[in-house]
This record gives sequence, C-alpha cells and structure tokens, in this order.
Amino acid sequence: MAIDRIVIVGGGTAGWMAAAALSRLKKGRELSITLVESEAIGTVGVGEATIPPFVDFNQLLEIDERELLAAVQGSFKLGIQFVNWGAVGDSYIHPFGNYGYEIGSMSFHHVWHFMKSQGDNRPIQVFNAETMAAFFGKFARTQDMKREDLPPINYAYHLDAGAYAKFLRGYAEQRGVVRQEGRIEDVALDGESGDVASITLESGEVLEGDLFIDCSGFRGLLIEQALETGYEDWTHWLPCNRAVALPCNRDDGSPPPPFTRATAHKAGWQWQVPLQHRNGNGHVYCDAFMDADEATDILVGNLAGKPTADPNHLRFVTGRRRKFWNRNVVALGLSAGFMEPLESTSIHLINTGITKLIAVLSLDGVTEAQRETFNRLTEKEYRRIRDFLILHYNSTTRDDSEFWNYCRTMSVPDSLTERVALFRETGQIFREEDELFTETSWAAVMMGQGIAMNGHNAMAETLDKGAIKAEMDEIEKSIRFLVQHMPGHGEYLRRYCPAKPL
Ligand code: FAD
Repeated sequence: MAIDRIVIVGGGTAGWMAAAALSRLKKGRELSITLVESEAIGTVGVGEATIPPFVDFNQLLEIDERELLAAVQGSFKLGIQFVNWGAVGDSYIHPFGNYGYEIGSMSFHHVWHFMKSQGDNRPIQVFNAETMAAFFGKFARTQDMKREDLPPINYAYHLDAGAYAKFLRGYAEQRGVVRQEGRIEDVALDGESGDVASITLESGEVLEGDLFIDCSGFRGLLIEQALETGYEDWTHWLPCNRAVALPCNRDDGSPPPPFTRATAHKAGWQWQVPLQHRNGNGHVYCDAFMDADEATDILVGNLAGKPTADPNHLRFVTGRRRKFWNRNVVALGLSAGFMEPLESTSIHLINTGITKLIAVLSLDGVTEAQRETFNRLTEKEYRRIRDFLILHYNSTTRDDSEFWNYCRTMSVPDSLTERVALFRETGQIFREEDELFTETSWAAVMMGQGIAMNGHNAMAETLDKGAIKAEMDEIEKSIRFLVQHMPGHGEYLRRYCPAKPL
C-alpha cells in the first residue's frame, strides 16, 4: 500500500524533529503529514544537551545557526566534564574531537603513551583543542579563526527543549505539516493486517494513516500499548530509574561554561546544562538506593543559583523496544527506548532514527526488508551506546555507598569486558563500522575513570623519536595559539547569537 498519509503521534522533541525532517519529503508530492499532540499531557520537558551530529541535523534542514541558537537560549558545548566518577575528587573531560591526530597510521594515544614511557610527561589533554578551550571557558568556531593550519573545533549545543520543539513546529508548519491538538483516546488496528489503521481523539475525530510515527514518549501509545511490541529491560546494567529536574539562575552572573557537567553523587549523578539565561539541572538516581526527598535535597544543595521552577520528578526504565519499527509503526524518541542522559545520546538517536527512516523508506509501501534493516541497524546503535554508558558506572573505584558497590561489582556485557581488557593490555580500541563514539571518546573515558593503559601499538616504537616530539610540540603549540585567540564563551554568545530577553 502506498504511503500517502503519515501521522506523527506526539509533539515533543522527537515528534517535531520527525515532522521537520519529513516535511522535506512533501516537495513535489501529494503527501499529507499530520502531527497530533496534547497540551494537557505535555512533554517530558527535559533533554537539553546534544552531541555534534545534532549540528549536522539542523544544517541539513538548512536552519540558520544564529537564528536557532537565539530562539532556544542556546549555548555551545565542547564536551562533558565528569566529576567524582572514577573516585571522589576526580574530574576529567570527555571532549568532542580527537586527541592529536594519527601519526604513522596510529591513533595519537599510542604515540603519546610511547613518548610517556620515554619521559615526556605532558598530559594527553593538552593535545585536544576542545578540552583546552573548555578548561579556559573559551569558544570559537573553526571558520572564525580564518586559518587552515589550526585544529578544527567540534561542538554541539545546549538548548531549551521546549523552545526547540516550538522552533521546529514553525519550520514544519511552514512546509505543510498539519498540527492537530487533542488527546488520543483510542487506537484501531486493521482486522486483517494487524497494522494500525487509525487513531481516535477525545473529540471523536478519527485520523487514518498509512505510516504512523510513535513519538508519544515513555508510554509508547502505538508501539507498545496498541502493538505490544515488548521491551528489553537493561536496569541490571544501567540501574538509575528516576530523575528530578530543576532549572536555576546563575546567581553570580558568570558566563555559561562551554560544556555539560555530570557530577556523581551517592546513588546517581547530577547534570548541569548551561543555557544563555539559566542552567538546566537534574539528579538522575536509583530508587533502590535513594528516595525522592533525599535526591531533591542533594540537587537543591548543589545548584548554581535560585531555582526557577518546581522540581519535576520523572521515572523511567532503561532499555529498548524489542522492535523499533513494528508493522506500520516506527518508534522514535522515548517510545523507542531510553538509556540514560549521561552522554546526551537520546536526541542523537532521534536524529539517526529519522535519517535511517528517510533513507530506507519507500513511499510505495512498507516492506519487510525496510523494517528489518531499520531494526537491525538501530539495535546495533543502542547496544554500542549502552556499553559506553555502562563503562562510566562499572569502572569506578568508589566504595562509599551501596549504589557504587553494586555498579563496581555488577556483571557487564562481554563486549565491554573485552574492550576494557584490550585497552588495558595494549591501548587498542577497535571500533565497529560506523560506531558513534570515537577512539578519543573511549580513551578519554577509560583513562578518566582510572583505567590505566599498560601498553601501546608496537609500531610506535619504530618511529623516529625526534620527529614525533617535533609533531607533538607543533600540535600543542597550535592548540595553545588557538585557545589564546578565542573569545570567552559568554562574549562569543553575546556577539554571535544573543537570545531575546524572555
Ligand atoms: P515527550 O517529550 O514525552 O513527548 C511526548 C509527546 O506525546 C507529547 O507531545 C505528548 O503530549 C504526546 N502524547 C502522549 N500521549 C498522548 C495522547 N494520548 N494523545 C495525544 N498526545 C499524546 N536527551 C538528550 O539528548 N540530552 C539530554 O540532556 C537529555 N536529558 C534527559 C534527562 C532526563 C531525566 C530524561 C528522562 C530524558 C533526557 N533526554 C535527553 C531524553 C530527551 O528528553 C528525549 O529524548 C526527548 O525529549 C524526546 O522526548 P519525546 O519527544 O520522545 O517524548
């Protein structure tokens, strides 16, 4: 059956990202796209930190960066600072971008480790531009520097989630997407095929569709409640199941730092996402080890200023839907699964879900091959991100609470055990195909958590030491020059994309 009518259920970040991207398919075609959302139900209202592919997503939609950032109180993000994770008092940055660059066809950390064994004591962080700029609170984009010999700057955004959905709504409506307000009361399945045939709103209005995109959030209105797809629960590996979110002012008037901060506490961790006008904050925790009052007290006690709203309490189960595309329903966003906001991967998975959907979708009809490809690729993505997240919890030396004792001693997937062992022994990190996290990501987090790299690629020792040292000097020098010539992040935002006062 041809796809002439797409119905998107839900108007959170997932729904409006899908609507904006799919609206581009309408060009030159008779394709109707309707998005249904309920103001009474509302959205999850969190999700403000992103990673670099999100910049590309907005560029693909030909959205002007300055206009976008001004509309969403946006700021720039160069990575994530992890505090108290490996041990209380520790701090490290997981940066976007790479440590140095390949030398002799080897990743930089091998060469760095070899030179360290020869007495070069420079920390690996000085060879990463994003880490150094974050450390000094500086920011500029690669093109601002107007020099080709300096390292590129990889960045993402912090943004107000509600404002972003509103911005994309304008974009999608301008391109013909129809928004329908109302609570969905019923979902009807086709008696023969078992596909979703229509949804009924509380007003009694019936909306039929050929393809449904389920962006209804944790409840999974179509993918789970109607189609009973099933959920793979990963709580035993990612035990946090609650969060309390609370935005606040920056009372000291300091500029927003160009990075997200993730501070580990007794039974979870706290995020700080600095926007232009406020900080987004939240405490993610496990209710088997801490109750909501204590979690809220810890959060309130660790804010940079006065709260600007009431605490928003959320519950979730980490894991993924058994099928992301089932029959004629594609789940995107929280209805597809949720793994933890620790590495800001949820909005990214919406982005890649949409990209894959557009790539495999044929408007002539849905086939089994399309569904299977989409499900196989998405499952792989979830699994790889899952392992990376578990690494943060499991590779800790913390023994100051029952929560950390559990995380430190829990069994983890074999794929992760193997990766950590290989890194410890040889410094090797083998990425699979188009895996999201780079070698620098894995190296930064493993070393940051205190996993020592005890060896390096033997080929590093065959390189000329004098030549390597000269290259390392050059990398360090150009990063120092770059960071010295960058403006402060606050100043950059004021000049480039000042948000309108609220
Ligand atoms: P929602 O925002 O819940 O939207 C669901 C939509 O469905 C709403 O419009 C609702 O009205 C509609 N709906 C539901 N039922 C009905 C019905 N019966 N009738 C009509 N409409 C209905 N992601 C990141 O990338 N970075 C982060 O920093 C980050 N932090 C997070 C922190 C926490 C604590 C949590 C829980 C998530 C975080 N996420 C983060 C994830 C991110 O918030 C979500 O991926 C994103 O907001 C997408 O949500 P959604 O659109 O799937 O669902």
